[in-house]
Amino acid sequence: MTVPDVKMSSGSTIPQLGFGVFQIPPGDTAELVAHAFTVGYRHIDTAALYGNEEGVGQAVRDSGLDRDDVFVTTKVWNTDQGRDATLAAFDASLGRLDLDYVDLYLIHWPTPARDLYVETWLALEELYREGRAKAIGVSNFQPNHLRRLAAEATVMPAVNQVELHPTFAQAELRSVHEQLGVVTEAWAPLGQGSELQAPTVTEIAQRLGRTPAQVVLRWHLQLGNVVFPKSATPARIEENVNVFDFELDQTDMAGISALDEGNRLGPDPDAFNE
Ligand code: NAD
Repeated sequence: MTVPDVKMSSGSTIPQLGFGVFQIPPGDTAELVAHAFTVGYRHIDTAALYGNEEGVGQAVRDSGLDRDDVFVTTKVWNTDQGRDATLAAFDASLGRLDLDYVDLYLIHWPTPARDLYVETWLALEELYREGRAKAIGVSNFQPNHLRRLAAEATVMPAVNQVELHPTFAQAELRSVHEQLGVVTEAWAPLGQGSELQAPTVTEIAQRLGRTPAQVVLRWHLQLGNVVFPKSATPARIEENVNVFDFELDQTDMAGISALDEGNRLGPDPDAFNE
């Protein structure tokens, strides 16, 4: 099972499918990430907020894989925005991961009321120049936040990790990403499980002899999104990576895209300032 790579503006590449560990209990993380490596994943998406960076790092070190062959993302939490706090938060994340560098470091949310995301971004640029973050990016940024970085920063974000699933397809934001050369990462790619019963999806799954989760992940991959579905169930972790031996045709792609109804499940990034 080979997961294709997507090229980022940093010049490095990111495996298009990874394993997300939001809400994976810290005590289970090393074992589930090790399972993910065994069944073919090479990209792990964590965050300081998730409280499980130690388990991710342990699984990477115990895997026997070359560090170069594994892609690790983590994120700076909102209360650590601002230059000095962000540099300290990065050191703390790297310490918990017990790694020499991360492949991708993200600003978790813009929290516009703080008005610190540009300063925080400039701290990420320092980490990037030092090579301790091989690529840097943002999460939950709206077009106006990205345009402000384009005007005030030196380096553009390699990725923007945003909520994106069939009922919240983010067509406008995806086209802004294309214009700015930013890779789209889709969080909650399965709509946190809520979209797997949609008749359009179950009909395609039945016809192709696939599961609804595999069909939705294929839709993302064919749109060019980077995804990292989360599951705490080993069989589902394996199911979710086995999506590179079939394709959806244009009709099925269009049918899933037609499910879009602006159905945001998480916070509105313009209003989320915790
Ligand atoms: P998801 O869409 O990946 O859904 C996960 C849920 O879907 C699981 O808990 C399970 O109930 C179900 N599921 C998974 N595989 C399945 C399968 N094969 N069959 C049936 N049901 C299945 O949602 P998520 O965990 O919110 O998002 C994925 C990752 O995105 C997270 O782990 C995290 O890494 C990242 N994320 C980032 C942000 C952010 O603000 N940047 C926010 C949320 C999540």
